[in-house]
Amino acid sequence: MDLTKLIRDVPDFPKPGIVFKDITPLLSDGRALKYVVDTTAERFAKERITMVIGIESRGFIVAPALAIALGCGFAPIRKPGKLPWKCYEESYSLEYGKDRIEIHEDAVSAKDRVLLVDDVLATGGTMAAAMRLVRRCGATIAGAAVLVDLAFLGGAKRVDCPLFALLRYD
Ligand code: AMP
Repeated sequence: MDLTKLIRDVPDFPKPGIVFKDITPLLSDGRALKYVVDTTAERFAKERITMVIGIESRGFIVAPALAIALGCGFAPIRKPGKLPWKCYEESYSLEYGKDRIEIHEDAVSAKDRVLLVDDVLATGGTMAAAMRLVRRCGATIAGAAVLVDLAFLGGAKRVDCPLFALLRYD
């Protein structure tokens, strides 16, 4: 299935110079949404995943559907100050400045094999920080899945686990 037509480029959003990959046309197409979930679940079906972790906020859209398809649980990685229990936190660099993400310390443990999910991989800073969080919990990362890899930004180099992207922009 050709998903490219369902990803809308929005120039200069959220700020000048950024071409935002808007996934809402894809989400609104039932067949395409099912294809995304089925294809990604199939890729990781033999990986004995025990927990799917979505990265706030657009990682939350597909991750729970993937968890259901893989027959496992879901846990969130969130922006600072949103999670109510004890957290690990990791900082990462943005184009300007820094940001932080958090995970509950008991979200996953040494017995877990984790699939990390986000919508877009850009510079890879967010995914790399998410991987550090999961490893601090003691869990194994079995893979990372994104809808879109902006490969020209080189983010995949920072992802030291199997990376599955439905769309790659070179
Ligand atoms: P990065 O840490 O640079 O890999 O950025 C990835 C995170 O920022 C993801 O959570 C994406 O949702 C978001 N993001 C970065 N660049 C874009 C873009 N061009 N279009 C849509 N989302 C983006």
